[in-house]
This record gives sequence, C-alpha cells and structure tokens, in this order.
Amino acid sequence: MEYRRLGSSGLKVSAVGLGTNNFGGRMDPPASARVVHQAIDLGINCVDTANSYGSGLSEEYIGRAIKGKRHDVILATKVYSPVSDGPNSRGASRLSVMREVEDSLRRLDTDFIDLYQVHFHDVDTPIEETLRAMDDLVHQGKVRYIGCSNFDGWQVCEAIWTSRSLHLEPFVSVQPHYSMLVRDVERELIPFCKAYNIGVLPYFPLASGFLTGKYRRGEAPPQGTRLAGNERAAERTLTDANFDVLEGLEEFAAERGHSMLELAFSWLLANPVVSSVIAGATKTEQLDANAKAADWHLTAEDLAEVDRILGNGA
Ligand code: NAP
Repeated sequence: MEYRRLGSSGLKVSAVGLGTNNFGGRMDPPASARVVHQAIDLGINCVDTANSYGSGLSEEYIGRAIKGKRHDVILATKVYSPVSDGPNSRGASRLSVMREVEDSLRRLDTDFIDLYQVHFHDVDTPIEETLRAMDDLVHQGKVRYIGCSNFDGWQVCEAIWTSRSLHLEPFVSVQPHYSMLVRDVERELIPFCKAYNIGVLPYFPLASGFLTGKYRRGEAPPQGTRLAGNERAAERTLTDANFDVLEGLEEFAAERGHSMLELAFSWLLANPVVSSVIAGATKTEQLDANAKAADWHLTAEDLAEVDRILGNGA
C-alpha cells in the first residue's frame, strides 16, 4: 500500500481509504467489522466517517471494530450534520463542535480523533468561531488534525488565512465530491489545494459503484447493490450519457490491460494533491480489489486521452 502525506501535515494516509457511510444503514456490526478488519490487514489506514452516518451507528460500529487496533487506523470523522433535534443541533458553532466531539469520541470509544472535519460550510457561524473551537480541541488532545468538506475554494482560502492571521491550527485537508464523472472542483478548489498544499480526500470516487462497471446499460442493477436499493440515485446515475462515458473508459482501460476499477482509483491518484481515495465497500472482496487498484501510473498521454473521453472535464 502506498502512503501519502495529508497535505502539508506529517500524517501519512493510505492512497486507498475506506468510507463508511454504509455502516449502520445497509451494513450491520459484523459486516462492518469484517470490512474494517480487512482494511487494516491490507494496510488501508484511512477510515472516514461522520457523526451523522447511520445516525451515529457508523462511528459506533467502527469503535467496536477497532478495539485493540486503535493505532492501526487514522480515524477521520465530521461535525455539522444534526443527530438530534433543536436549533443548535446543526452547524459548526463552538457549542455544536464542543458537544459533537464528545459524542463522537464516546461512540468511537477512543480518546482522540485523528482528523476532525467540518462537514459543510456553515453560513451562520463565523469561520473564526469554528476554527477557535477546533484549535482548542487540538490543544486539549482530543483531535490531532483538522479539515473541512464540501467547502468552495474561497471558503477554504478564507479559513486558511483566518488560521494564519490568528495563529490557529489550519485545515490540512478538504473532502469534496470528486470522481471521473464529477469534476467541478478542478476549476477552483483543486488548483487552490495545490498552491496551498491542502490534502484532497475525494468522496463518491466510484460514483456509488457505477465506475466499477458493475451496472450495465439496459439492465436492472444487480441485486443487493447500492443502486438496486435506491431508485432516485439509480435514475440519476444510470443514464445513457454516463454509460457512453463509462464504455469509452472501459475500452481505454482494457486496451492497456487494466480494469475500470483501476482506472477510477489511479486517475484520481495521478494528481499528487489527492491524499487518499475514500471509497465505500460493503464486502471484503471489494476491498481486496480496491487495495490493488491504485498501482497504475497513468502517463501524460493517458490523462489527455481520458480527458478526451470525458469531454475535456471541467
Ligand atoms: P463510492 O465510494 O463512490 O461508492 C461506494 C460503493 O461502490 C460501495 O458501496 C460498493 O457498492 C461499491 N464498490 C466499492 N468497491 C467496489 C468494488 N471493488 N467492486 C464493486 N463495487 C464496489 O461512494 P461512497 O461510499 O458513498 O463514498 C465514499 C465515502 O465518502 C463514504 O463512505 C463517506 O465516508 C464519504 N462521503 C462523504 C460525503 C461528504 O459530504 N463529505 C458525502 C458522501 C460520502 P455496493 O454498495 O453496491 O456494494
């Protein structure tokens, strides 16, 4: 397994990571534990969750699975989304951050979080308030590093400059929606992250499994898959336009002796600003395949050809 620095920090994360938003929803504790244990065995250390996944169950199942293995994983979780009712249940205010971190620590059954991320930009809270609260958590030893998710380029920039001006801990990573099918972040966010050395953790890297090639044009989603159980997501994803792109990519990969899965991971990792590709997995076999999918080093010519197939991207 390749390990990369998370932005400008000294933290090393596995190039292939594990997303866990299926835990507590489609996956019960034994299925979740199997996947976490397999990840650890494969050298996948970057495990991403959030206070809200499975209404807290994702964190709880991870906490149980890593008993006695805490130092084998880099635990990344998030704050912002509500897990209870009330006017202060959502957001990144000092009150929310301080309350949610205690709940996350309890559910994860640990006394520190490696990477604490603000899940969404909070228009109601000045970034200085959020950063001061997170800075306190780092100084209290409850959190090692901080990051954000779903922030626009200017919002990360504002946060970085606020940290610099006030001598607060800076965000070392950003977690955006980014895959071969969704490249909007290449316009502003990715160039910003390159210039400021912020690590990128792409989410939905496989477009919910579509970029593995397991969904076929004109066929119903295979039983038990994510899109078989989610009609709206299936309608949005299984379009003729997406299949046109997918079939072009599959042909490109096959001509070079690679699979679609390898292309989906290796294309993201071809950009050194990407630290870890946090794909979700529901079965240990998927993790086995994902762990091996990052070894293809795409050349400049390969990337240009992929751009052509994708319609020049952003
Ligand atoms: P994803 O990584 O694009 O897709 C995951 C799905 O792909 C799995 O559930 C599995 O589908 C399928 N899959 C994975 N490996 C496979 C393989 N080798 N062969 C065949 N199928 C494979 O989407 P995601 O899991 O939703 O996103 C990744 C992570 O990003 C999440 O788990 C979460 O931690 C994070 N996330 C963050 C945000 C945010 O706002 N920050 C939002 C969404 C997600 P089946 O379920 O069909 O088995």
